[in-house]
Amino acid sequence: MVTVRLENIVKRYDGDVLAVDNVSLDTEDGSFLTLVGPSGSGKSTILRMLAGVVTASEGRIMFGDKDVTDIPPQDRDVAMVFQNYALYPNMTVRENMEFGLKMQGVDADERRETVKEAAHLLQIQELLDRDVQQLSGGQQQRVALGRSVVRDPEVFLLDEPLANLDAKLRTEMRTTLVELQREIGVTTVYVTHNQIEAMTMSDKVAVLDKGRIQQLAAPQELYRNPANQFVADFIGTPSMNFLDVEARHADDAVRLTNEVFDISVPTDTATGVAIRDVTTDRGKSTLGIRPQDLVVSERGASEGYLAGQIEVVLIETAGDKLILHLEEGDIRVISVVNEQMSVEYGDKVNVTIDPERLHLFDPETGDALLS
Ligand code: ADP
Repeated sequence: MVTVRLENIVKRYDGDVLAVDNVSLDTEDGSFLTLVGPSGSGKSTILRMLAGVVTASEGRIMFGDKDVTDIPPQDRDVAMVFQNYALYPNMTVRENMEFGLKMQGVDADERRETVKEAAHLLQIQELLDRDVQQLSGGQQQRVALGRSVVRDPEVFLLDEPLANLDAKLRTEMRTTLVELQREIGVTTVYVTHNQIEAMTMSDKVAVLDKGRIQQLAAPQELYRNPANQFVADFIGTPSMNFLDVEARHADDAVRLTNEVFDISVPTDTATGVAIRDVTTDRGKSTLGIRPQDLVVSERGASEGYLAGQIEVVLIETAGDKLILHLEEGDIRVISVVNEQMSVEYGDKVNVTIDPERLHLFDPETGDALLS
């Protein structure tokens, strides 16, 4: 087990494409770090640099106290699992899992024992003598994980390993992977474009965009205190609502307004003071509200902080929740409410917002204004 550290890593492909732009990060020993971001944000490039199959243009990579920047892949103690399982097609599960150990010169008894343990962890004991071509996608992915685990690597690297599995299996494999990682306690770096995987599996998540880390934090912290509008938008389902607002200051309150919303936050609260301070020299701000925090009350009833009245234009059912699309003029927002709420198309509803749960961003830079 080691810590993994990237120091000011830059990667330029073929001179021109800046794939990774000065990334620094630190993992804890035995922790699960996820790199998440849209396609092309540099996730795989970082993972490949950790594996040693892509060379960094600038910067240093450390495993514990060891500088591995110039160490070739075969001399790094890493195991990598890809989305296409890359199993040896003409071998059995056992032969696939043993292969790396055999190459390392591990004797037959020890190989047998190690494979047995890994197969047990991954619940593929019954499959050991099957040909890998006879297995389902999910089973093949377990074998691919098993083959990596038996090598007892210092660092475990996973590149979208669940991408080819169907939705149900993917959810199951998430749990399997997290349990496996806890069990073997190996420092893991996981790449995905799926924010739900990142949020459910990781100790820490690095959100990437355009080759840069936008925020590195624990999942709850990303959700509660996104550092900027990119992270706020990327993390959470449905995505956060963003609205242009103007701040109006009075003696005892600060009001955030646009053509529909008028949110009044008393300045005898810490939040009110903070909002007043960050909006004092600013004409416009971008207000962020998670759909779960935009509270809809049925016609007529209003309580707490009335933010505005708005029409229901679309209702989506999602199990125990309803997703309401609300519109008035140019303003369009989404609210998630309890499935039992009685609401119909065309209703004008009141929306309220707890000021403690609102976010404000600089419209120019996208940086979060309230910490
Ligand atoms: P992600 O994994 O987040 O989708 P990548 O690390 O694959 O992102 O890619 C980051 C950027 O680097 C993209 O613009 C991509 O087109 C470019 N890139 C990736 N691999 C190569 C390569 N081998 N040669 C040139 N450009 C590449």
